[in-house]
Amino acid sequence: MHADNSLWPEPIEPTTEHPAEGVTLLRAFCRDEAPRIYEAIQEVEARSSFRQMVVPGGHTMSVAMTNTGEVGWTTDRTGYRYTSADPLTGAPWPAMPGTLLSLAQRAAEAGGFPGFTPNNCLINRYSVGARLSLHQDKNELDYSHPIVSVSLGLPATFLLGTLRRTDTPRRIRIEHGDVLVWGGPARLIYHGVAPVPAGFTR
Ligand code: FE
Repeated sequence: MHADNSLWPEPIEPTTEHPAEGVTLLRAFCRDEAPRIYEAIQEVEARSSFRQMVVPGGHTMSVAMTNTGEVGWTTDRTGYRYTSADPLTGAPWPAMPGTLLSLAQRAAEAGGFPGFTPNNCLINRYSVGARLSLHQDKNELDYSHPIVSVSLGLPATFLLGTLRRTDTPRRIRIEHGDVLVWGGPARLIYHGVAPVPAGFTR
């Protein structure tokens, strides 16, 4: 047996951090269930594919998106909105797979928001260099529910702002399997993702 097992990833114990009031960072929360999450995303993608949407200013987003749930978030030149049908297919957005529903519920509870039932899951796919500029999630009708943000794949820098756009956001390194939950007093914080750096191969 080889003495050096450094080729194998060390098991990572889930831990909980509170970077701001109303914000919980659940490190490695869903790392072990990542394969099932990817399967669920593939199911969604087979019916409503990833697409790069256009914002009202005419710019095409670098992030590719799709949705699952009763409603889906979309944008085009006329504005941001939630729709019950996928504008690309005209069919309802795919129903939320149980894997994603359960993950959101467990994470919300761990973040202090028990009894959460999401009606939308927006799935953002970042290729290298893709980013999401600082914004508030404010197209929702009811701010009493939290936002649950699951990260898989390459590490990235999450920009954790405040309720004021002019405040410089904190930069938080997010790794595969981390989940961020924010709500209550933090529900309308500005947030974003810095351009995703390339990974590396051995
Ligand atoms: Fe957002």
